[in-house]
Amino acid sequence: MISDLVVNISLLMSFTFVWHQLFRKNRLTMSSPVQIKIIDGLLAGFLGIILMHYSIGVNEMTILDLRHIPVVLVAFYGGFLPAFISAVVIIVGRFLIAVNFSSFIALFMMLVIALGAGLIVTFMKGGAWKRWTALLFYSQLIFSIALYIVVDNYWDVLQYALFHVLSTIIGGYLTFYFVDYIRKNTERYYRYKENALRDALTGLNNVRSFDTHYNRMIKESMDEKVECAICLIDVDHFKQINDTYGHTAGDEVLKQLAGLLKGLTRSGDILSRNGGEEFSLLLPKCTVGQAKDIATRVREAVSEFNFTLPDQRKIQLTVSVGVSAFNPDEGKEEALFQDADEALYKAKQSGRNIVCTSWECSY
Ligand code: GH3
Ligand code: MG
Ligand code: MG
Repeated sequence: MISDLVVNISLLMSFTFVWHQLFRKNRLTMSSPVQIKIIDGLLAGFLGIILMHYSIGVNEMTILDLRHIPVVLVAFYGGFLPAFISAVVIIVGRFLIAVNFSSFIALFMMLVIALGAGLIVTFMKGGAWKRWTALLFYSQLIFSIALYIVVDNYWDVLQYALFHVLSTIIGGYLTFYFVDYIRKNTERYYRYKENALRDALTGLNNVRSFDTHYNRMIKESMDEKVECAICLIDVDHFKQINDTYGHTAGDEVLKQLAGLLKGLTRSGDILSRNGGEEFSLLLPKCTVGQAKDIATRVREAVSEFNFTLPDQRKIQLTVSVGVSAFNPDEGKEEALFQDADEALYKAKQSGRNIVCTSWECSY
């Protein structure tokens, strides 16, 4: 019997691991789309059928196993729908093993487990472990009642019944610990990955992400033989804003500026905060003339915008923009960023609130 327990637990763990890996980007939740709930319900049912094939045989008619655990598991994460679908799949699987009194009792048992599990997750308050405990004990209770109904003399099978309860407790808690652990770690992984590429203040791409997009843009430009361009946008006299209104007000201005710049970008353009009060706009498939037009629109839009400080005062500011483009026919891809940086320096030297390339400046 111990080996049955080990086999059942191993099956639960390995199956749920593969299941999670396949659907880690579409994890089952209460708000998952219906098709995800259906797929997870079918998979849980399939797992239930596998578990039935590794059951403890009580007599030639009756089998005990952990088929209820996948049902309560999908109920826990996805509610009624996946629970019912898995129950129906398991019922069908049970009839395929044998059609007898036990399989008819099993039909009612699975439906009652799915219904009760759905009700528990919908109405029970409290922490995850408390609700999981309720699900395990409820489903085991129904299973035990079903066993009591189908066997002639319950005391003859008492050792199986007790072992079944023990299997549910050990298998149920281990499975939940495992599933909860891998789900939480996956969620954390995606959150940290997202944070590693975003600037915390503005939500724009950070400089690390800028580098990746920059290199990709140059490569695509060379592969496809089309020009690409960059605008470096730096706030004029930003230090004065901090000095006059405080650092928090400066942060608020940067956030509003990020929002304004976002509204000015076309889809496919990549906006980043490269640091401090310096932003960049990567423009794939763009000539230097088009880039200058975009930069001029940005400069004008910023100069006309009223920024709202935390104390509701309004202020205005300006930006200087350095523009450069890369033509794959001419090579020199390493010069793109450097040229834009030099153009920005020139814009600052020329009195600010201006757009410059390495050869000319314009308002
Ligand atoms: P210029 O016109 O020459 O660009 O002058 P500037 O004052 O904008 O440039 P400078 O490089 O002298 O100062 C940039 C300031 O930006 C200094 C720094 O305190 C401020 N700053 C950098 N990062 C942040 C930030 O995250 N929040 C706030 N509030 N200020 C920042
Ligand atoms: Mg500045
Ligand atoms: Mg600067």
